[in-house]
Amino acid sequence: MNQHARPEIKPIPFIDIGAQRKRLGEAIDEAVAKVLDHCQFILGPEVRELEGQLSSFAGVKHTISCASGTDALMLVLLAKKIGPGDAVFCPSFTFAATCEVVALVGATPVFVDVHEDTFNMDVESLKKAIATAKKLGLKPKAVIPVDLFGLPADHDAVAAVAEENKLFVLDDAAQGFGGVYKAKKIGGIGLAAATSFFPAKPLGCYGDGGAVFTNDDELAELIRGLRVHGQLPGKPEFSHIGITGRLDTIQAAVLLEKLKIFPAEIAARNKIAARYSEKLGQYAIVPRVPEGYTSVWAQYTIRVQPGRRDGLAAALKAEGIPTAIYYAKPPHRHEAYKKFPAADGGLPVTEKLSHEVISLPMHAYLDESTQDRIVDAVKRALVG
Ligand SMILES: *Cc1c(COP(=O)(O)O)cnc(C)c1O
Repeated sequence: MNQHARPEIKPIPFIDIGAQRKRLGEAIDEAVAKVLDHCQFILGPEVRELEGQLSSFAGVKHTISCASGTDALMLVLLAKKIGPGDAVFCPSFTFAATCEVVALVGATPVFVDVHEDTFNMDVESLKKAIATAKKLGLKPKAVIPVDLFGLPADHDAVAAVAEENKLFVLDDAAQGFGGVYKAKKIGGIGLAAATSFFPAKPLGCYGDGGAVFTNDDELAELIRGLRVHGQLPGKPEFSHIGITGRLDTIQAAVLLEKLKIFPAEIAARNKIAARYSEKLGQYAIVPRVPEGYTSVWAQYTIRVQPGRRDGLAAALKAEGIPTAIYYAKPPHRHEAYKKFPAADGGLPVTEKLSHEVISLPMHAYLDESTQDRIVDAVKRALVG
Protein backbone atom coordinates (compact mmCIF):
# COMPACT_ATOMS: atom_id res chain seq x y z
CA MET A 1 0.00 0.00 0.00
CA ASN A 2 1.27 3.44 -0.83
CA GLN A 3 1.35 5.23 2.52
CA HIS A 4 1.71 8.59 0.85
CA ALA A 5 -1.51 8.17 -1.08
CA ARG A 6 -3.53 7.94 2.12
CA PRO A 7 -5.06 11.07 3.52
CA GLU A 8 -3.44 12.20 6.75
CA ILE A 9 -5.02 10.43 9.71
CA LYS A 10 -6.22 13.04 12.15
CA PRO A 11 -7.69 11.62 15.36
CA ILE A 12 -11.36 12.47 15.90
CA PRO A 13 -12.51 13.23 19.45
CA PHE A 14 -15.29 11.01 20.83
CA ILE A 15 -16.96 14.01 22.48
CA ASP A 16 -15.52 17.39 21.47
CA ILE A 17 -15.72 19.51 24.61
CA GLY A 18 -13.01 21.77 23.16
CA ALA A 19 -15.18 22.77 20.19
CA GLN A 20 -17.95 23.90 22.50
CA ARG A 21 -15.44 25.72 24.71
CA LYS A 22 -14.26 27.62 21.65
CA ARG A 23 -17.81 28.55 20.67
CA LEU A 24 -18.60 29.86 24.16
CA GLY A 25 -15.25 31.63 24.41
CA GLU A 26 -15.25 34.82 26.44
CA ALA A 27 -18.79 34.38 27.72
CA ILE A 28 -17.53 31.59 30.01
CA ASP A 29 -14.39 33.50 30.98
CA GLU A 30 -16.51 36.48 32.00
CA ALA A 31 -19.07 34.40 33.87
CA VAL A 32 -16.32 32.70 35.89
CA ALA A 33 -14.50 36.01 36.44
CA LYS A 34 -17.68 37.44 37.92
CA VAL A 35 -17.76 34.68 40.53
CA LEU A 36 -14.06 35.22 41.24
CA ASP A 37 -14.94 38.87 41.91
CA HIS A 38 -17.89 38.37 44.23
CA CYS A 39 -16.31 35.39 46.01
CA GLN A 40 -19.60 33.70 46.92
CA PHE A 41 -18.24 30.31 45.93
CA ILE A 42 -20.86 28.31 47.82
CA LEU A 43 -24.55 28.80 46.97
CA GLY A 44 -23.80 32.14 45.33
CA PRO A 45 -26.32 34.06 43.21
CA GLU A 46 -25.53 32.02 40.06
CA VAL A 47 -26.71 28.85 41.79
CA ARG A 48 -30.15 30.32 42.49
CA GLU A 49 -30.30 31.80 38.98
CA LEU A 50 -29.42 28.45 37.41
CA GLU A 51 -32.00 26.59 39.48
CA GLY A 52 -34.69 29.00 38.32
CA GLN A 53 -33.65 28.71 34.70
CA LEU A 54 -33.49 24.91 34.82
CA SER A 55 -36.98 24.82 36.35
CA SER A 56 -38.30 26.94 33.47
CA PHE A 57 -36.42 24.87 30.92
CA ALA A 58 -37.80 21.57 32.20
CA GLY A 59 -41.21 22.92 33.16
CA VAL A 60 -40.88 21.82 36.80
CA LYS A 61 -41.59 23.62 40.03
CA HIS A 62 -38.31 22.93 41.80
CA THR A 63 -34.70 22.38 40.81
CA ILE A 64 -32.20 21.59 43.54
CA SER A 65 -28.69 21.68 42.14
CA CYS A 66 -26.13 19.42 43.75
CA ALA A 67 -22.59 18.08 43.54
CA SER A 68 -23.11 15.22 41.07
CA GLY A 69 -25.69 13.09 39.34
CA THR A 70 -25.00 10.36 41.86
CA ASP A 71 -25.74 12.73 44.75
CA ALA A 72 -28.92 13.84 42.97
CA LEU A 73 -30.17 10.25 42.89
CA MET A 74 -29.07 9.57 46.43
CA LEU A 75 -30.65 12.74 47.85
CA VAL A 76 -34.06 11.58 46.64
CA LEU A 77 -33.61 8.13 48.18
CA LEU A 78 -32.44 9.72 51.46
CA ALA A 79 -35.41 12.10 51.46
CA LYS A 80 -37.79 9.19 50.96
CA LYS A 81 -36.07 7.25 53.79
CA ILE A 82 -35.23 4.30 51.57
CA GLY A 83 -33.12 1.82 53.50
CA PRO A 84 -32.57 -1.77 54.60
CA GLY A 85 -35.32 -4.16 53.58
CA ASP A 86 -36.49 -1.95 50.72
CA ALA A 87 -36.32 -3.01 47.09
CA VAL A 88 -35.57 -0.42 44.40
CA PHE A 89 -35.87 -1.53 40.78
CA CYS A 90 -33.12 -0.48 38.36
CA PRO A 91 -32.42 -1.43 34.79
CA SER A 92 -29.43 -3.72 34.43
CA PHE A 93 -28.24 -1.95 31.30
CA THR A 94 -26.96 1.33 32.75
CA PHE A 95 -24.03 3.02 34.45
CA ALA A 96 -23.26 1.66 37.94
CA ALA A 97 -24.36 4.87 39.70
CA THR A 98 -28.02 3.96 39.20
CA CYS A 99 -27.81 0.92 41.45
CA GLU A 100 -24.90 2.24 43.51
CA VAL A 101 -27.07 4.80 45.31
CA VAL A 102 -29.63 2.15 46.21
CA ALA A 103 -26.97 -0.02 47.82
CA LEU A 104 -25.37 3.02 49.48
CA VAL A 105 -28.53 3.83 51.43
CA GLY A 106 -28.71 0.19 52.52
CA ALA A 107 -31.56 -0.89 50.27
CA THR A 108 -31.50 -3.70 47.71
CA PRO A 109 -31.24 -2.90 44.00
CA VAL A 110 -33.25 -5.42 41.97
CA PHE A 111 -32.16 -5.59 38.35
CA VAL A 112 -34.71 -5.31 35.58
CA ASP A 113 -34.15 -6.23 31.94
CA VAL A 114 -34.45 -3.77 29.04
CA HIS A 115 -35.90 -3.60 25.53
CA GLU A 116 -33.41 -4.35 22.81
CA ASP A 117 -34.61 -1.60 20.48
CA THR A 118 -34.63 1.30 22.97
CA PHE A 119 -32.09 0.03 25.55
CA ASN A 120 -34.57 1.15 28.24
CA MET A 121 -36.49 -0.61 31.01
CA ASP A 122 -38.88 -3.38 30.01
CA VAL A 123 -41.96 -3.19 32.24
CA GLU A 124 -42.75 -6.86 31.77
CA SER A 125 -39.43 -7.58 33.44
CA LEU A 126 -40.22 -4.89 36.05
CA LYS A 127 -43.41 -6.77 36.99
CA LYS A 128 -41.39 -9.96 37.38
CA ALA A 129 -38.80 -8.11 39.46
CA ILE A 130 -41.49 -6.86 41.85
CA ALA A 131 -42.63 -10.45 42.35
CA THR A 132 -39.01 -11.52 42.84
CA ALA A 133 -38.49 -8.86 45.50
CA LYS A 134 -41.62 -9.91 47.41
CA LYS A 135 -40.53 -13.54 47.30
CA LEU A 136 -37.25 -12.47 48.88
CA GLY A 137 -39.12 -10.69 51.66
CA LEU A 138 -38.20 -7.21 50.45
CA LYS A 139 -40.57 -4.24 50.38
CA PRO A 140 -40.94 -2.80 46.87
CA LYS A 141 -40.56 0.97 47.24
CA ALA A 142 -39.26 2.69 44.14
CA VAL A 143 -38.31 2.29 40.51
CA ILE A 144 -35.48 4.14 38.77
CA PRO A 145 -36.02 4.13 35.01
CA VAL A 146 -33.01 5.44 33.10
CA ASP A 147 -33.23 7.58 29.97
CA LEU A 148 -30.32 5.72 28.49
CA PHE A 149 -28.10 7.29 25.83
CA GLY A 150 -30.43 10.31 25.95
CA LEU A 151 -33.62 8.51 24.93
CA PRO A 152 -36.52 8.80 27.39
CA ALA A 153 -37.70 5.53 28.91
CA ASP A 154 -41.31 4.50 28.32
CA HIS A 155 -42.47 6.55 31.28
CA ASP A 156 -46.21 5.93 30.90
CA ALA A 157 -45.65 2.20 31.02
CA VAL A 158 -43.34 2.52 34.04
CA ALA A 159 -45.82 4.84 35.80
CA ALA A 160 -48.68 2.39 35.34
CA VAL A 161 -46.76 -0.47 36.99
CA ALA A 162 -45.42 1.88 39.67
CA GLU A 163 -48.90 3.11 40.56
CA GLU A 164 -50.31 -0.39 40.74
CA ASN A 165 -47.54 -1.39 43.13
CA LYS A 166 -47.32 1.89 45.10
CA LEU A 167 -43.76 2.60 43.99
CA PHE A 168 -42.45 6.10 43.51
CA VAL A 169 -40.61 6.87 40.29
CA LEU A 170 -37.18 8.47 40.31
CA ASP A 171 -36.09 9.15 36.75
CA ASP A 172 -32.35 8.77 36.22
CA ALA A 173 -32.02 11.49 33.60
CA ALA A 174 -28.22 11.78 33.88
CA GLN A 175 -28.02 11.11 30.13
CA GLY A 176 -31.49 12.25 29.18
CA PHE A 177 -31.99 15.79 30.47
CA GLY A 178 -33.23 17.96 27.62
CA GLY A 179 -35.22 15.09 26.12
CA VAL A 180 -38.95 14.98 25.58
CA TYR A 181 -41.41 12.16 26.22
CA LYS A 182 -44.84 12.58 24.63
CA ALA A 183 -44.80 16.39 24.93
CA LYS A 184 -43.45 16.21 28.50
CA LYS A 185 -39.95 17.47 29.19
CA ILE A 186 -37.60 15.14 31.02
CA GLY A 187 -37.33 16.44 34.58
CA GLY A 188 -41.04 16.70 35.26
CA ILE A 189 -41.78 12.99 35.02
CA GLY A 190 -42.19 10.86 38.15
CA LEU A 191 -41.90 11.99 41.75
CA ALA A 192 -38.44 13.34 40.97
CA ALA A 193 -35.74 13.21 38.32
CA ALA A 194 -31.99 13.43 38.70
CA THR A 195 -29.46 14.64 36.20
CA SER A 196 -25.69 14.95 35.97
CA PHE A 197 -23.56 17.82 34.71
CA PHE A 198 -20.45 15.65 34.30
CA PRO A 199 -18.57 17.26 31.38
CA ALA A 200 -19.36 14.52 28.86
CA LYS A 201 -23.13 14.54 29.49
CA PRO A 202 -25.35 16.45 27.06
CA LEU A 203 -25.49 19.42 29.48
CA GLY A 204 -22.13 19.29 31.22
CA CYS A 205 -20.17 21.72 33.38
CA TYR A 206 -16.41 21.96 33.88
CA GLY A 207 -16.22 19.56 36.79
CA ASP A 208 -18.80 17.57 38.70
CA GLY A 209 -22.38 18.68 39.20
CA GLY A 210 -25.97 17.50 39.17
CA ALA A 211 -29.56 18.43 39.93
CA VAL A 212 -32.81 17.06 41.28
CA PHE A 213 -36.10 18.12 39.71
CA THR A 214 -39.48 17.75 41.37
CA ASN A 215 -42.95 19.26 41.54
CA ASP A 216 -43.31 18.18 45.18
CA ASP A 217 -42.85 21.17 47.55
CA GLU A 218 -42.12 19.13 50.66
CA LEU A 219 -39.63 16.87 48.92
CA ALA A 220 -37.84 19.89 47.46
CA GLU A 221 -37.51 21.53 50.88
CA LEU A 222 -36.20 18.34 52.41
CA ILE A 223 -33.63 17.82 49.64
CA ARG A 224 -32.47 21.44 50.01
CA GLY A 225 -31.76 20.57 53.64
CA LEU A 226 -30.16 17.19 52.96
CA ARG A 227 -27.83 18.87 50.49
CA VAL A 228 -26.36 20.89 53.39
CA HIS A 229 -25.95 18.32 56.16
CA GLY A 230 -29.63 17.93 56.94
CA GLN A 231 -30.22 21.49 58.09
CA LEU A 232 -33.50 22.57 56.50
CA PRO A 233 -33.60 26.06 54.93
CA GLY A 234 -33.88 28.75 57.63
CA LYS A 235 -33.82 26.23 60.51
CA PRO A 236 -31.11 26.12 63.19
CA GLU A 237 -31.57 22.41 63.83
CA PHE A 238 -29.84 19.50 62.12
CA SER A 239 -33.14 17.68 61.80
CA HIS A 240 -31.90 15.07 59.34
CA ILE A 241 -28.63 13.36 58.49
CA GLY A 242 -27.47 14.81 55.20
CA ILE A 243 -24.39 15.30 53.05
CA THR A 244 -22.19 18.05 51.58
CA GLY A 245 -23.91 17.96 48.25
CA ARG A 246 -23.90 21.48 46.81
CA LEU A 247 -23.12 22.61 43.28
CA ASP A 248 -20.19 25.09 43.16
CA THR A 249 -21.09 28.65 42.15
CA ILE A 250 -18.41 28.57 39.44
CA GLN A 251 -20.04 25.50 37.90
CA ALA A 252 -23.43 27.21 38.03
CA ALA A 253 -21.94 30.19 36.18
CA VAL A 254 -20.58 27.85 33.50
CA LEU A 255 -23.92 26.07 33.20
CA LEU A 256 -25.84 29.34 32.80
CA GLU A 257 -23.81 30.06 29.67
CA LYS A 258 -24.12 26.50 28.40
CA LEU A 259 -27.87 26.44 28.93
CA LYS A 260 -28.22 29.31 26.44
CA ILE A 261 -26.93 27.14 23.61
CA PHE A 262 -28.36 23.83 24.85
CA PRO A 263 -31.52 23.86 22.67
CA ALA A 264 -29.43 24.53 19.55
CA GLU A 265 -27.04 21.77 20.57
CA ILE A 266 -29.91 19.31 21.02
CA ALA A 267 -31.13 20.18 17.53
CA ALA A 268 -27.61 19.68 16.13
CA ARG A 269 -27.26 16.32 17.86
CA ASN A 270 -30.57 15.20 16.39
CA LYS A 271 -29.52 16.21 12.92
CA ILE A 272 -26.25 14.32 13.28
CA ALA A 273 -28.02 11.25 14.65
CA ALA A 274 -30.54 11.26 11.80
CA ARG A 275 -27.69 11.47 9.31
CA TYR A 276 -25.83 8.56 10.96
CA SER A 277 -28.98 6.45 10.90
CA GLU A 278 -29.74 7.25 7.29
CA LYS A 279 -26.23 6.30 6.19
CA LEU A 280 -25.63 3.32 8.48
CA GLY A 281 -29.10 1.74 8.61
CA GLN A 282 -28.31 -0.94 6.06
CA TYR A 283 -25.02 -1.99 7.68
CA ALA A 284 -25.89 -2.13 11.38
CA ILE A 285 -28.89 -1.92 13.70
CA VAL A 286 -29.28 1.80 14.31
CA PRO A 287 -31.06 3.27 17.35
CA ARG A 288 -34.84 3.55 17.21
CA VAL A 289 -36.56 6.66 18.53
CA PRO A 290 -40.23 5.90 19.19
CA GLU A 291 -42.90 8.32 17.95
CA GLY A 292 -43.29 11.27 20.30
CA TYR A 293 -39.86 10.91 21.92
CA THR A 294 -36.94 13.31 21.55
CA SER A 295 -33.49 11.99 22.43
CA VAL A 296 -30.59 14.22 23.42
CA TRP A 297 -28.16 11.62 22.07
CA ALA A 298 -25.81 11.31 25.00
CA GLN A 299 -24.50 8.41 22.92
CA TYR A 300 -25.11 7.25 19.38
CA THR A 301 -25.09 3.48 19.78
CA ILE A 302 -25.37 0.91 17.03
CA ARG A 303 -25.59 -2.87 17.26
CA VAL A 304 -23.50 -5.30 15.24
CA GLN A 305 -23.07 -9.06 15.30
CA PRO A 306 -21.10 -9.91 18.45
CA GLY A 307 -18.28 -11.51 16.44
CA ARG A 308 -17.76 -8.33 14.44
CA ARG A 309 -17.60 -5.76 17.19
CA ASP A 310 -13.93 -6.03 18.13
CA GLY A 311 -12.92 -5.92 14.48
CA LEU A 312 -15.04 -2.83 13.90
CA ALA A 313 -13.56 -1.05 16.93
CA ALA A 314 -10.02 -1.94 15.82
CA ALA A 315 -10.61 -0.85 12.21
CA LEU A 316 -11.99 2.50 13.35
CA LYS A 317 -9.17 2.98 15.84
CA ALA A 318 -6.64 2.44 13.05
CA GLU A 319 -8.27 5.36 11.24
CA GLY A 320 -8.16 7.66 14.24
CA ILE A 321 -11.83 7.14 15.11
CA PRO A 322 -12.57 6.38 18.77
CA THR A 323 -15.50 4.21 19.86
CA ALA A 324 -16.80 3.21 23.27
CA ILE A 325 -18.75 0.27 24.57
CA TYR A 326 -21.57 1.09 26.96
CA TYR A 327 -21.92 -1.35 28.58
CA ALA A 328 -19.63 -4.30 27.89
CA LYS A 329 -20.04 -5.48 31.46
CA PRO A 330 -23.35 -4.34 32.96
CA PRO A 331 -23.40 -3.56 36.70
CA HIS A 332 -25.00 -6.85 37.80
CA ARG A 333 -21.89 -8.70 36.61
CA HIS A 334 -19.50 -6.47 38.57
CA GLU A 335 -17.97 -7.59 41.85
CA ALA A 336 -19.84 -5.05 43.99
CA TYR A 337 -23.28 -5.87 42.58
CA LYS A 338 -23.15 -9.61 41.92
CA LYS A 339 -24.93 -10.34 45.18
CA PHE A 340 -28.06 -8.38 44.30
CA PRO A 341 -31.09 -10.08 42.77
CA ALA A 342 -32.36 -9.86 39.21
CA ALA A 343 -35.92 -10.20 37.96
CA ASP A 344 -37.22 -13.74 37.52
CA GLY A 345 -36.43 -14.77 33.98
CA GLY A 346 -33.01 -13.14 34.21
CA LEU A 347 -31.58 -10.39 32.06
CA PRO A 348 -31.24 -11.99 28.62
CA VAL A 349 -31.62 -8.77 26.63
CA THR A 350 -29.03 -6.95 28.72
CA GLU A 351 -26.63 -9.87 28.21
CA LYS A 352 -27.24 -9.84 24.48
CA LEU A 353 -26.83 -6.08 24.15
CA SER A 354 -23.61 -6.12 26.14
CA HIS A 355 -22.05 -8.13 23.29
CA GLU A 356 -23.53 -6.13 20.41
CA VAL A 357 -23.43 -2.41 21.23
CA ILE A 358 -20.81 0.06 20.14
CA SER A 359 -21.05 3.86 20.38
CA LEU A 360 -19.70 6.23 17.74
CA PRO A 361 -18.42 9.79 18.22
CA MET A 362 -21.38 12.06 19.02
CA HIS A 363 -21.50 15.73 19.96
CA ALA A 364 -23.11 18.89 18.64
CA TYR A 365 -19.97 19.98 16.75
CA LEU A 366 -19.45 16.90 14.58
CA ASP A 367 -19.26 18.36 11.06
CA GLU A 368 -20.49 16.52 7.98
CA SER A 369 -17.09 15.72 6.53
CA THR A 370 -15.87 14.24 9.81
CA GLN A 371 -19.09 12.30 10.09
CA ASP A 372 -18.66 11.01 6.53
CA ARG A 373 -15.18 9.81 7.44
CA ILE A 374 -16.68 7.85 10.35
CA VAL A 375 -19.54 6.48 8.26
CA ASP A 376 -17.21 5.35 5.46
CA ALA A 377 -14.90 3.63 7.92
CA VAL A 378 -17.83 1.81 9.56
CA LYS A 379 -19.13 0.67 6.16
CA ARG A 380 -15.70 -0.56 5.06
CA ALA A 381 -15.24 -2.50 8.29
CA LEU A 382 -18.68 -4.10 8.23
CA VAL A 383 -18.89 -4.90 4.52
CA GLY A 384 -15.37 -6.26 4.16
C1 LIG B 1 -23.32 9.71 34.62
C2 LIG B 1 -24.43 8.94 35.16
C3 LIG B 1 -24.78 9.01 36.52
C4 LIG B 1 -23.93 9.68 37.56
O1 LIG B 1 -23.63 10.99 37.34
P1 LIG B 1 -22.33 11.65 38.06
O2 LIG B 1 -22.55 13.11 37.87
O3 LIG B 1 -21.14 11.13 37.34
O4 LIG B 1 -22.36 11.25 39.48
C5 LIG B 1 -25.90 8.33 36.94
N1 LIG B 1 -26.64 7.61 36.09
C6 LIG B 1 -26.34 7.51 34.78
C7 LIG B 1 -27.22 6.71 33.88
C8 LIG B 1 -25.22 8.16 34.27
O5 LIG B 1 -24.92 8.05 32.99
